Amino acid sequence: MEKQVGQPKSVKKPLVSHPLDNIEDVEEFYAAINRHHLTHAITAERPYTYWTIELYDKQNGIRGGGGLGVLAADTRRVAEQGNVPFVLITPFYPSEQHQHYEQSENGFKNYTTHEPVDYTKYGYQFIDTVNIRCNGQIATLDVIEKQLGSTRIICVTEPGFGELYSGDSGGDHRLYQEVALGFGGYQALKLAGLKPAIMQLNEVATFFAALARLDELASNGMDFYEAVVYTRKHTLYTNHTLVQAAEAEFSYAQFERFVFPNLKSPAVKKWLSDKFEYGHIRLSAVTIEIAELRSGVSKLHARVANYHDLAGNKVKFKAVTNGIDIPTWCSPEIVKFLREKDILDKFYLPTTDYTEKIETITAKDILALKKRGRAELNSVLAHRPDQYGKFLEIPDNALLFQFKRRFVDYKRPWLPFSQPERLKQILEKHNAHYILCGRVHEGDNRMAARLHRILDLVDHDEILKKRVHYLPDYDEELGRALSIGANISINNPIVGLEACGTSWMKDIVNMGILVSTHDGGIADASSDSYLSITGNTEAEEIESLYIRMEEAANAWEHEFDLEFIIKKELVAFLPVISGTRMLKDYLEYLF
Ligand SMILES: *Cc1c(COP(=O)(O)O)cnc(C)c1O
Repeated sequence: MEKQVGQPKSVKKPLVSHPLDNIEDVEEFYAAINRHHLTHAITAERPYTYWTIELYDKQNGIRGGGGLGVLAADTRRVAEQGNVPFVLITPFYPSEQHQHYEQSENGFKNYTTHEPVDYTKYGYQFIDTVNIRCNGQIATLDVIEKQLGSTRIICVTEPGFGELYSGDSGGDHRLYQEVALGFGGYQALKLAGLKPAIMQLNEVATFFAALARLDELASNGMDFYEAVVYTRKHTLYTNHTLVQAAEAEFSYAQFERFVFPNLKSPAVKKWLSDKFEYGHIRLSAVTIEIAELRSGVSKLHARVANYHDLAGNKVKFKAVTNGIDIPTWCSPEIVKFLREKDILDKFYLPTTDYTEKIETITAKDILALKKRGRAELNSVLAHRPDQYGKFLEIPDNALLFQFKRRFVDYKRPWLPFSQPERLKQILEKHNAHYILCGRVHEGDNRMAARLHRILDLVDHDEILKKRVHYLPDYDEELGRALSIGANISINNPIVGLEACGTSWMKDIVNMGILVSTHDGGIADASSDSYLSITGNTEAEEIESLYIRMEEAANAWEHEFDLEFIIKKELVAFLPVISGTRMLKDYLEYLF
């Protein structure tokens, strides 16, 4: 079933585009979400602004690192479908990383390449330049923009901007990038003739955008305290992290070089200086001060995120669970099916009686739709090599498990390999394959070693070598294809450490069976809505994982069970998954 190394058999297809699906105008969308008055609150000149250091939207030239960037891209796409005036401000990174694998006599070698990215190839228009002050010099940033329906992407960039997350998280270059996005991006907005109706800060790396606004108001004659109140009322801080203490700090000396020179108002400078403790500052501490509106990314996360303001009070976060842009991540056949069954409306919100409509889905429907999905996956696998540089084709009659996510410790990609004999037994018994997909962060030697151990294990075992495949350079294309073409997805983060997660949403909407620990956004619903991994110790969780994998594999061989599980998942999670629901939640909270 494996083909020899050679030319990929098909060219890379872009992700699904976004047909506006007969949306007449913005009022219809606002009416659908019961927000009639928004027509006046957000306009093309006073848009919803969304600030993010990371955007994962390769169609528009920007590769992200993970969920934070995927969320930003999906939020914009959902706004575009609803015709909401929405501006996303982010850096355009002139270079991006790619991960590769090679097998040598010493085992597997993981290496990263850095490739230039040219914004002119992605349809951006150059507007003008803006200047910021950094380290005793003037840095000149290009402002570029791209209009997409009612939305725009505005970027700041320059040839030395570097890559996403390059350098230490508390280092000078990171601070430079964050200051460039905040102060440069705020000037870019003005250059484009825009005033923000609201500023949503996607994590604290975007703090400087709100600071730039405060400084503008305070230096243009508004009373300082009024300027603080005004900025606070119009700023939403969206937190994705659990523990404040884990955040990197910047020093006063760094702020003297990169931040203070960009401030015009002495009162703002004084206000910011006072926020330092022992010569250091955490951006979350000041972001909490500057944003009265604060959200967490799932019900569980909003409840357990442990953040305190500078006075020592615990911060309350409003739960707005992440969603995904369904037409981007779902197979076109399944989108069409869900629309025709009137399970999703034209805004991709579940209809009022979607639960009854889901009852009419049959196992035959599911099997037919997944068969189409498998073909789509195979067309992607035809140009995405595995760890041996070969191109796979997963046969139609084989069952497919997948684990696709960033290779970070808490997501535990090695867990299903804890007892190789159990794994082999399940794969052989059900004629199943297992695709493992995920990038190790550059410099994370521990995770790189763990991955190499898995690959060596697979390499030295005939059965595993036939049935387990690793795909390097995990990206949107692989994420989407695996959700569409696999039958069972494995998600086993350490409970309490996943803020929300969205890749499991892609699996459920594509009618896959989810085997998961009860964490992040999954805990928005009850643990009997999917095949949940339980246990008080890791050993118990491993036992539970194998039992669930076996159960999931059996379900694909028994129509009644398959129908039962898939329907239950859709009933419980479709409202959570809908990105439109997420935008509606944000709009309700903000306006
Ligand atoms: C969906 C997606 C993510 C988000 O995954 P989480 O479950 O939120 O960790 C990350 N990377 C890629 C490439 C994706 O497609």
